[in-house]
Amino acid sequence: MHADISSVNSELGKHLSPFYLEHNYIIPSKLLLPHDSYAYISEAWHSTSQLDHCFSSSDTHGPLSSMNILYNLAVSDHIPISFSVKVERLPEVFVGNEGVCQSNLNWSNVTKSELRSYSIKTEELLRKVVLPNEAIRCTDPNCANMKHKVDICTFYDRIIRALIESGKPLHKVVGSSNIKLAGWNMYVAGFHEQAQVATREWAQAGRPRQGPLCKKKKKLTHARYK
Ligand SMILES: [Zn+2]
Repeated sequence: MHADISSVNSELGKHLSPFYLEHNYIIPSKLLLPHDSYAYISEAWHSTSQLDHCFSSSDTHGPLSSMNILYNLAVSDHIPISFSVKVERLPEVFVGNEGVCQSNLNWSNVTKSELRSYSIKTEELLRKVVLPNEAIRCTDPNCANMKHKVDICTFYDRIIRALIESGKPLHKVVGSSNIKLAGWNMYVAGFHEQAQVATREWAQAGRPRQGPLCKKKKKLTHARYK
């Protein structure tokens, strides 16, 4: 993400702050980097600022560490940021319908050639994802255009599907597709599927904050697992 969130004069910063507050995102680049860090050098103003930020949900923040700004690698006005991800500490992800992501992928078991095939396949599949140009260029933070909302949801969905598809062979290698959770099918799978359908319907309707679809989605995604 690219905005000066510390400045009240930054147009993008004004949009970005409500966005991360609304979604309870954490800004690891703010927490893990020294306060005097900068990732942007303005030659015109002879000044530096911290414009480039990483956002994460609270459960993915834990696995992040050793964040650095690579000042010695600066080749443009923006300076690269590096960080480590302890993949074994990433939260579990369940994608019931796909049947392959029942567990985290153990990346340390993936060989270089498998990683290479994964990277080629990922690039091939992501190239096919059509950019919804009009929706992406829309700058209205309170946009009510239903087509924009549906296009963004579809775009996101296609990226996720492409990544799941290219990761499939790696799951077979490490055998994690066979991992079953005790009681999952008997007690939870049905509700999980209903919750997924409700979430999809809600997303396709433009993620309304109220109304029957929103209520149904909330009911199925929050209440039944507890
Ligand atoms: Zn729009």
